[in-house]
Amino acid sequence: MITPKIKSHSTPHRPSQGNRDFRNRTKRDGKLPDEQKNILRGAPKTHTGVATAQPGIILKAERGKSLLRRHPWIFSGAVECVNGAPASGDTLPVRSAQGEFLAWAAYNAGSQITARIWSWREEETINVEFFRSKIANALALRRDFKLADKSSGMRLVHAESDGLPGLVVDQYGDVLVMQIGSAGAERWRDTCADILQELCKPTCIYERSDSDSRTLEGLEPRNGVLRGTLPDNVEVVENGLRFNVDVVAGQKTGFYLDQRDNRALTETLAQDRDVLNCFCYTGGFSLYALRGGAKSVLSIDASGDALRSAEENLARNGLDAARAEWQEADVFLALRKLRDQGRSFDLIILDPPKFAPTAAFAEKAARGYKDINLLGFKLLRPGGILITYSCSGGISEDLFQKIVAGAALDAGVDAQIVHRLHASADHPVLLSFPEGAYLKGLVLRVG
Ligand code: SAH
Repeated sequence: MITPKIKSHSTPHRPSQGNRDFRNRTKRDGKLPDEQKNILRGAPKTHTGVATAQPGIILKAERGKSLLRRHPWIFSGAVECVNGAPASGDTLPVRSAQGEFLAWAAYNAGSQITARIWSWREEETINVEFFRSKIANALALRRDFKLADKSSGMRLVHAESDGLPGLVVDQYGDVLVMQIGSAGAERWRDTCADILQELCKPTCIYERSDSDSRTLEGLEPRNGVLRGTLPDNVEVVENGLRFNVDVVAGQKTGFYLDQRDNRALTETLAQDRDVLNCFCYTGGFSLYALRGGAKSVLSIDASGDALRSAEENLARNGLDAARAEWQEADVFLALRKLRDQGRSFDLIILDPPKFAPTAAFAEKAARGYKDINLLGFKLLRPGGILITYSCSGGISEDLFQKIVAGAALDAGVDAQIVHRLHASADHPVLLSFPEGAYLKGLVLRVG
């Protein structure tokens, strides 16, 4: 048996600096005196604060529209100036060019997203009670929709979509994993950990703050125990299947919870089929397909650690190893090799990593998606099924469908969309924040 490599970035965390919010220094009526308005109109287009002016973020004229639609981000280009020399993570009022109150937001001087909204209500105080109420509300949604019924794992807090920009909390049985991706959430990390401890009573809260988005926010990676003790083995039981979750060194917070319902759908389509699962990670779709009666499952991933974990998961569930083949390879090359070998399959799953984190990467990402989908179509037998995903925030559902349609055309096949897939319900999407709907999938039947 091979032990997976453990990446240890464990660093002691700094104690919270508390909330330096500027609420008490803000005029309650949200109106600026005329002379201050004039100062602001004439202010240079810079983020340097005007120390004597009213503290807060002042938007450029006509740039408050997205806030009025309750989109929770303020980009640096929309900011006229920031008054009061605040530090990153501070809570500041956001005001229109005319001085009207728009929102309370967490400031970050080092990010293109200068501020993320905590609240739209002027009378709100951003304090422990605020976070307790937001977290309790997120837990209530999961309870109301009975999301714990089929799995011991789920996303408890889905950042912006649960009203807590930059805070992700995933549950794996008694272990919670927190991922912090913004300066505002970073400021309130200990408060949120205390609230989660109080409301969920986990044996451990582990912090996996090492995502790419942290770099964009100018935050150092952090990885380590926040509360309690991490058990030797963390496991999630999903629809009766057991998966080992490496919260310390696995991808994301250890497991791709967002594919839970889609994995269950795959099981229903696998009977007597030869299955190819590309980008298999720790074997999620593969194990479901095997339990669903697949004739064979070939699973490919570039990560040896993930594949070793997948094999352990197979054994853990007593599934038939003779029907499973694991291959450590680059999927782009492996698909070409399979084509050249004349191989074919009845069901192909393509669940690649994020090719386009933002729209700026969309063109390059589109080429990647087209490539693997084209090869996928070519490897399918007539009547076969392609289940294809994109988790790129920079690729819309509509664009993804167009890319897949182009791939089918080039492969010379006709295909029908049978299902449109999204992340499971523990990843709700705030209506005013469409960016939250990052995962999209298509189940296609080839004629
Ligand atoms: N379907 C999985 C999640 C897939 S995540 C589940 O349900 O759990 C994407 C996976 O793609 C990761 O495991 C990563 O190691 C792998 N990966 C990234 N680039 C790759 C490449 N070029 N070839 C093969 N695997 C790759």
